[in-house]
Amino acid sequence: RAEGHLDVSVQPFGRRQRMLLGRDISPLTRLEQIRRDFVANVSHELRTPLTVIHGYLELLDPEDVPELAPVLGEMRAQSKRMGQIVEDLLTLSRLETQDHVVDERVPMAALLATLRKEAEALSQGRHQITLEADADYDLLGSPKDLHSALSNLVSNAVRYTPSGGRITIGWHRATGGATYSVRDTGYGIPASHLARLTERFYRVSSSRSRETGGTGLGLSIVKHVLNLHQGRLTVESTPGQGSTFACHFGPERLLPPEAGPQ
Ligand code: ADP
Repeated sequence: RAEGHLDVSVQPFGRRQRMLLGRDISPLTRLEQIRRDFVANVSHELRTPLTVIHGYLELLDPEDVPELAPVLGEMRAQSKRMGQIVEDLLTLSRLETQDHVVDERVPMAALLATLRKEAEALSQGRHQITLEADADYDLLGSPKDLHSALSNLVSNAVRYTPSGGRITIGWHRATGGATYSVRDTGYGIPASHLARLTERFYRVSSSRSRETGGTGLGLSIVKHVLNLHQGRLTVESTPGQGSTFACHFGPERLLPPEAGPQ
């Protein structure tokens, strides 16, 4: 039985270090900047040709050439997948260069209901999905980025839990803040992999990940979104039994819910 714990609250290129290096940019920081720009440019350049290819593939009618129907299906699936990778890389580039987020109210009751619906749609009745919420705070931050991060953990739980498993989405009060968590009874992750999970394209099992349609960038996006919200991502996992991914938010990111209509 292996258990592990990952804490990614400290990132090498976070705000604090950038301030320290502000005047004298080290060769490593310059290299990192070149890498970021390169990835952003390549992703941007790939977007248009991919959109064109995808558009034409959608126009082709498999009934015109029935023997090509399976090939066409595969081409559409792969071009969609490539499009998703490019979009995720662009999201990551944006998150990496951003140093603060908008401070908007993110109503948690509505977001949790949406996340649960998304889980049900992905699961298609294969899992038992439960929502447990005893915190009544809303979050303060970017609604779009928080939705995408919290939803990523839900889709991972569905994708890495065999049929018949349980998935529990939680929003709980915690010492010094509140915690959003997604617990599953899925495949779990061996302890030796935990520390690297949030690296781009890092996968415990690449075949399983590809089969289930992942881009390998999901947890990397989650990490960046949490860092921008001063949050912390932790994971606890037991291979063969399941995993719990949790996002901890401090009091500065929590708002009491708005008073409802009287
Ligand atoms: P992917 O698109 O491959 O799912 P992620 O960055 O979201 O990429 O996750 C990285 C890897 O972490 C996955 O490939 C998978 O091996 C592992 N992983 C993530 N979430 C879970 C989970 N809930 N249960 C088991 N393994 C997981």
